[in-house]
Amino acid sequence: MSPSAGRVAVVTGAARGIGAATAVRLASDGMAVAVLDLDDKACLPVVEAVEAAGGRALAVACDVSDADRVASAVARVAAELGPPTVLVNNAGVLRDNLLFKMSDDDWDTVMDVHLRGAFLMTRAVQAYMTQEHWGRIVNLSSISALGNRGQVNYSAAKAGLQGFTKTLAVELGKFGVTANAVGPGFVVTEMTRATAQRMGVPFETLEQEMAERIPVRRVGVPEDIAHVVSFLVSEQAGYVSGQVVYVSGGPQA
Ligand code: NAD
Repeated sequence: MSPSAGRVAVVTGAARGIGAATAVRLASDGMAVAVLDLDDKACLPVVEAVEAAGGRALAVACDVSDADRVASAVARVAAELGPPTVLVNNAGVLRDNLLFKMSDDDWDTVMDVHLRGAFLMTRAVQAYMTQEHWGRIVNLSSISALGNRGQVNYSAAKAGLQGFTKTLAVELGKFGVTANAVGPGFVVTEMTRATAQRMGVPFETLEQEMAERIPVRRVGVPEDIAHVVSFLVSEQAGYVSGQVVYVSGGPQA
């Protein structure tokens, strides 16, 4: 049995994409997993995949930017699965536009989901981690934190998550809690498909262009990210904290 067996993990934005792959992976590592997303029905296929493989999962509807809903979702996870001591802040949205065309709402929505969402979820879950004297937090950053045209809101939020992560590592280390960020490069999900559509480019063309620029000559898949998250939340990763791990097929953004 894996040393992580019996741990309870919460993965936000887990109905699809990187979050879904991470939820499935952590369940196969032996954790019970709360599959949290805006609509709990959308989480059911992930819950069913976990259960079909012999794992335990719970679909939880929650908007991570809403403080009351976060508090009740985390309390429900603790009541139904047990005290959550692993948190993956993965929920995300894009509202891309060049700075001069970006609306207040485009800015606020991205800040609310990524930064406020990670803050509210982490504040709620750390209560269980500090009580258990053990915890693992992984925040999804991005290579866009290094700057990306049309993403002044998203790159600011993803860079903000890096500072958030490092401060969590400083504050929570003495409670046996580590915090790290993962910065994916181009990963095939609904998010990158939507980007291709916005650019008016067929997805396969964008995928091919990206692959030519990436040193390992391929684009990422959600399982590439889930694998690194699995390591960072493992028992054995207790001496890795406050780090940003780019998972992008090479050293450049
Ligand atoms: P995705 O759009 O496929 O999935 C995001 C999920 O988050 C969706 O299921 C969505 O419903 C959920 N979500 C959105 N707002 C929410 C909210 N307020 N509360 C709860 N859930 C909410 O995206 P993805 O590509 O799987 O991305 C996952 C994470 O990885 C995001 O944080 C994203 O910014 C980051 N990321 C993705 C890529 C990539 O290439 N796909 C690259 C770098 C970083």
